[in-house]
Amino acid sequence: MKIIFLGPPGAGKGTQSEAICKEYGVTQLSTGNLLRDNIRQGTPLGKEASKYIGGGNLVPDEIIINIIREELRKPYLSKGYILDGYPRTVRQAEELDDILKEYDQTLDVALVLEVDVPDLVRRLAGRRTCRNCGRSFHIVFNPPIDPDDCEIGGCDIYQRPDDSEEAVKNRLRIYEEMTKPLIEYYEQKKLLRRIDGAGEMAEVYKRIKDVLDPIYYNSLNYHPI
Ligand code: AMP
Repeated sequence: MKIIFLGPPGAGKGTQSEAICKEYGVTQLSTGNLLRDNIRQGTPLGKEASKYIGGGNLVPDEIIINIIREELRKPYLSKGYILDGYPRTVRQAEELDDILKEYDQTLDVALVLEVDVPDLVRRLAGRRTCRNCGRSFHIVFNPPIDPDDCEIGGCDIYQRPDDSEEAVKNRLRIYEEMTKPLIEYYEQKKLLRRIDGAGEMAEVYKRIKDVLDPIYYNSLNYHPI
């Protein structure tokens, strides 16, 4: 399956992607995680990206599109993928269409995880991220077993600079202006499925599964009674 995961920052895309990957054997490609890895390793891409990320601004389209073009042809994604955090602008979506055509790939679905703004702010304020593996936690709703260690071990949990109050406001504004138009973009392509992102992680996952199961079985040509 090839899935696009849309939704505002803090909606829970990262956490839900993890569960989707386990269940359907697809691989998550998070452009945000990829950029943060590059920042940590001090690569030229990381140095460039850090000019934008800290304040919650988008990294320029050309940079992101080149990353996606490179990644989507790699064998680790050949069993299917979920794009978490890409596309974020109409231009990125249009370029993605061209790249997919070039690689002879088709998208199965574009999920949008919908969460109200006050809920998003509450989730982002309590979010903590593992510096090494990129997993997200929440200090109240999804705490790591040991506050300094994620389950993989040896990890370093911190608050992302772009989860600060100022940066969050900016990210939500950018989402409204730049990314929300993609909902209509994928609706027109008849790929869009809306998911109510309110409530417990498990409840939200159940809603996602109700959408993905039929698509998955269809892709296998298997029809359970
Ligand atoms: P995320 O982890 O998806 O919240 O992304 C964190 C930050 O990485 C964003 O606020 C942007 O600065 C940058 N970023 C991630 N994906 C993209 C994208 N598709 N286009 C532009 N910037 C991105």
